[in-house]
Amino acid sequence: MGRPLRDLRVSVTDRCNFRCRYCMPRERFGKEHKFLPKRNILSYEQIQKFVLACKPLGLGKVRITGGEPLLRRDLPKLVRQLSDLGLEIALTTNGSFLKREAESLAEAGLDRVTISLDAIDQDMHSRMTDSNVTVSDILEGIEEATSRGLGPVKVNCVVQRGVNESQIPKLVRQFRGTGVIVRFIEFMDVGGTNGWTPGQVVPTSEILDFLSKEFDLVPMMRDTPSDVASRWVHSDGSGEVGFISSVSQPFCGDCVRARLSSDGKLFTCLFTTLGHDMSELIRDGDDPSKLTEAIREVWTRRSDRYSEDRSSDAVSLPRVEMSYIGG
Ligand code: SAM
Ligand code: SF4
Ligand code: SF4
Repeated sequence: MGRPLRDLRVSVTDRCNFRCRYCMPRERFGKEHKFLPKRNILSYEQIQKFVLACKPLGLGKVRITGGEPLLRRDLPKLVRQLSDLGLEIALTTNGSFLKREAESLAEAGLDRVTISLDAIDQDMHSRMTDSNVTVSDILEGIEEATSRGLGPVKVNCVVQRGVNESQIPKLVRQFRGTGVIVRFIEFMDVGGTNGWTPGQVVPTSEILDFLSKEFDLVPMMRDTPSDVASRWVHSDGSGEVGFISSVSQPFCGDCVRARLSSDGKLFTCLFTTLGHDMSELIRDGDDPSKLTEAIREVWTRRSDRYSEDRSSDAVSLPRVEMSYIGG
């Protein structure tokens, strides 16, 4: 049977109010870009049906993502429907609507939230996200999420060489002593629109060297082998900092993550070219065990190890965008 399908990421929309240069650059996701037609987007009931069908395969956690998931109307309704299934529910968001939504998300049963924040300086944030949303709005959203018990709240920062290295110590300073865990992510070659080159990746080892000049960080054990982040703590107990080294230290061997796009395609790896279309089975099937068997069939045949094969020729096929497949 192989690895369990423990972690499912559900993209609820391929739309976003940001145009982060490394994810949805405006010249490729402008007015002419064709987002998924509304009629193809799974309803909350259909998402619930799919999630339920994954439970016999070992599912324990669902992460709601996108695009920007809080653009989807009445997201707490979906959170309620999924938490009623007895699963841990997490959300990844750019934070722009979090201040408004945190209370109803928490009431609906959301367990945890991760906010993407690549810069503390307003100029840098506006440049990176190509949006007018203010950093102070996002920080207020983070505070609101913390006070509503959506923790430990995590802040993810994608580091790009020559762009936002200056923000690394600022983010650590900002969240030290607040209980919020900042995690630095190596810029990845997902999709085909962000112009990724290996030279733009700042490896974790370099970030750690840099941070050690100001902070005394000591390593912690990972909770489980499938944890994506390596965890470090300030030696004075004032908080935790994480690192996701998807490029410099790939972790495909322990990967237990699947992704469902908002139009019902199942992806077994962030870097696959093709998804497995489950939409018909989700929409029309009246026997839930058939859906479970179809998912099992896809999952047990998977052999993805993209990050570990990154430099080989086998990985030069076109890839789906992260905003579509769900980060
Ligand atoms: N819009 C939400 C957000 O930004 O949190 C959820 C979707 S977004 C695609 C999920 C995560 O993917 C974000 O933390 C984002 O920084 C990350 N991401 C997008 N493109 C990336 C890339 N090329 N390399 C590394 N992380 C990336
Ligand atoms: Fe939108 Fe998130 Fe992609 Fe930025 S990273 S463009 S916020 S989906
Ligand atoms: Fe999992 Fe694919 Fe990422 Fe490897 S590259 S860790 S298989 S999602």
